Amino acid sequence: MYSKILKLRFPITEVQKPIVCTLAREFDLVFNILNAGILPRKEGFMVLEVSGSKKNFKEGVSYLKRQGVDVQNASQEIKRIEKKCTHCGACTAVCPTGALAIKRPQMEVVFDQTKCSVCQLCVTACPPRAMEVRPTNQLFFE
Ligand code: SF4
Ligand code: SF4
Repeated sequence: MYSKILKLRFPITEVQKPIVCTLAREFDLVFNILNAGILPRKEGFMVLEVSGSKKNFKEGVSYLKRQGVDVQNASQEIKRIEKKCTHCGACTAVCPTGALAIKRPQMEVVFDQTKCSVCQLCVTACPPRAMEVRPTNQLFFE
């Protein structure tokens, strides 16, 4: 499963069109809208997480661009939802950078975000889904 957070900016003529629904229907992509609105100059913007196969993702992005939508990758970071983490250690086995490590003798799993490469391997490895991908920069367009 390929997943990215995208920032879309729609020209005024496209704001009313169901572009994102087409993205899901035609390209078998799953999307989660993180933010959306209308900018002062009447452009629409949307921040959404899009997931699917890499091939479908690329074709979906090409479709958006053909519709005149400005598509940008949002910078991403990994956050741990502390209350969900059970310190099971599963993520430490897949983390290639040592950002997730077992602290001994307490046997707590510590997360050092400064070492994280945002490879996202821990996201699927974590049984309670405590690791999440989030956009780092402002959700709004400047
Ligand atoms: S796999 Fe998830 S629950 Fe287990 S230690 Fe890592 S973040 Fe915590
Ligand atoms: S995203 Fe990759 S580098 Fe970052 S904590 Fe998870 S497994 Fe480690």
